[in-house]
Amino acid sequence: MKKEGGNTAGRGGAVKKENGKAGDKAVKRKKKVAVKKEKRPAAAESVDWEAVTSGLANLHPEVTSRNVERRDELLKSCGAGSSVILDAVISTMLSQNTTDKNSREAFGNLTERFKSWSDCLKSSKEDVEGLIRVAGLATTRTERIFALLETLSAEQKSDAPSLEYLRDMSNDEVKKELGRFKGLGPKTISCVMLFGMARDEFPVDTHVLRIAKLQRWVGSGATRESAYDALNVAVPDALKMDLHCLLVKHGKVCHRCAANNKPQFPPADGVPLVCPLAVNKVVGGVKKEVVSLMVKVEKEGDGKRAKASGKVKKEEQ
Ligand SMILES: [Zn+2]
Repeated sequence: MKKEGGNTAGRGGAVKKENGKAGDKAVKRKKKVAVKKEKRPAAAESVDWEAVTSGLANLHPEVTSRNVERRDELLKSCGAGSSVILDAVISTMLSQNTTDKNSREAFGNLTERFKSWSDCLKSSKEDVEGLIRVAGLATTRTERIFALLETLSAEQKSDAPSLEYLRDMSNDEVKKELGRFKGLGPKTISCVMLFGMARDEFPVDTHVLRIAKLQRWVGSGATRESAYDALNVAVPDALKMDLHCLLVKHGKVCHRCAANNKPQFPPADGVPLVCPLAVNKVVGGVKKEVVSLMVKVEKEGDGKRAKASGKVKKEEQ
């Protein structure tokens, strides 16, 4: 955006020199356009991510505490013989299309039964299928786990398959390498990189995408892929793990931010949480919610934008 504005001004300057008065008008017009553009930056670029993250962290402190442990575990786990990345790949594969509880149980069953992934590879598919049945899609998942372990084992000429070699690769190389395996799509790979390799990644799942659209960090037509591209650039690296986990948690418990305003896990007392992503304003004695973009600058512009797009909701007082 800044670059664009600069170019426009530059071109305006050239016009002025060449065309005199007519050029002046052109400059004014162009400047106006440039200012207008700058007032409406792509939201993701101007969001106060620190404020968003700390607002959510105040509401869900258990999420950020768990991440402190996670980072600690990651630091300790990079030694020789580690299976952290393979663990992360398989646990993430098990987490697709099921609840956290069921995928944790399935992964726990595997690690309890097998001391290593080579033990798993030596067992039968029926065994593995039985162990992960709780997560659903057991046959497909078992096929994919075996295909992954068999491929790595053959390539490494070892019966102890490992993915630790990914640590020496760039982010793009890791994405390409993991993308070879069935069942590992961009979101799964992004999760593996964030949670298994401590890379600066911001995975976009269904909750992250929904809230990003609601807050207008991305456009309403954004896909998971386009939102991933935009948010990975916009969200500061240091906040990526916390903000990702906070949005996933928040999307499951907040009435305002859940799909269809029906949280998967509503508060036990039935009282909706006070959403830190919403801003309430009293207009004419009535409390209304305006979509909060939490931008660092141009507060006035925000109000206008929220109003213009009809995103002002009435709230009970
Ligand atoms: Zn919310």
